[in-house]
Amino acid sequence: MNGDVKVTEDEIAEGLGRLGLDSTSSVLVHASLRSFGRVAGGAEAVCRALVGTCGTVMMISGTWDLTGVPAPPGLVRPHNAYYNADTWAAFDDALESAVPFMSDLPVDRWLGRVSETLRLSFAHERSTHPLFSFLAVGTHARQLIEAQRLEWPLGPIDALAELGGHVLLLGVDHTSNTTIHLAEQHLGRSRFYRYAKVAPGAWAELPNVSGESHRFDEIEPELRPVTTEVRIGDCRARLIAVEDVLTCATRLIVNDPAALLCSDADCRCGAALQQRLATLT
Ligand SMILES: [Zn+2]
Repeated sequence: MNGDVKVTEDEIAEGLGRLGLDSTSSVLVHASLRSFGRVAGGAEAVCRALVGTCGTVMMISGTWDLTGVPAPPGLVRPHNAYYNADTWAAFDDALESAVPFMSDLPVDRWLGRVSETLRLSFAHERSTHPLFSFLAVGTHARQLIEAQRLEWPLGPIDALAELGGHVLLLGVDHTSNTTIHLAEQHLGRSRFYRYAKVAPGAWAELPNVSGESHRFDEIEPELRPVTTEVRIGDCRARLIAVEDVLTCATRLIVNDPAALLCSDADCRCGAALQQRLATLT
């Protein structure tokens, strides 16, 4: 029976303990279920191990795929790297097929099974940003979730830093590390306007939505000295203080406005760079 099971909930909890996590810990988790190999009990076992070990567990629970819409015709923001609907008819069609944010919308698939499972199976707090909500369980859940504002979606990560919290990467690299975006945004970079359906027939413009992260793993050597790492099954589990991520990313960007961005003219990285440069003039 279960001959092919590689990892159990207890083994995941034990691995989290080896990282130094306990009931006083608050973590922002970015997780790949597949990275563990086969987990007995699947995503629920991963969530139970996290919630059972840590005092507070936070994840991103964005709903962009359902709630997002194009920019309306003619609404152009500088260095925004986004597309407009060609006509108001096309915009109205997009708005019609989008879904307004509600607190029971599923988490976008590309954010992984673990976050959606935390939403479905655990009592949680969830913020109400129409594109980029957060989900949290445990001691400081409410405090973290209440730190999000419509105009400052990454506020919960600011609050997590104040709590002395950590980023926990479970089988993903820094391209999933949203905290790097917060460092960028503090420096005026990666602050995009995006658009969402907020009620039947109604849309909103949302500022300070973060952009591209495909080069973020270049931060890895810089963070290695402050990273704790263990193996849990096949999963490379890494823990870094939020404050250390912010300090390191800030240093890189202050030294080089183009740090952690690509130079492809068609990529959103270019618009993010222009935003940063505009703060320096
Ligand atoms: Zn790029």
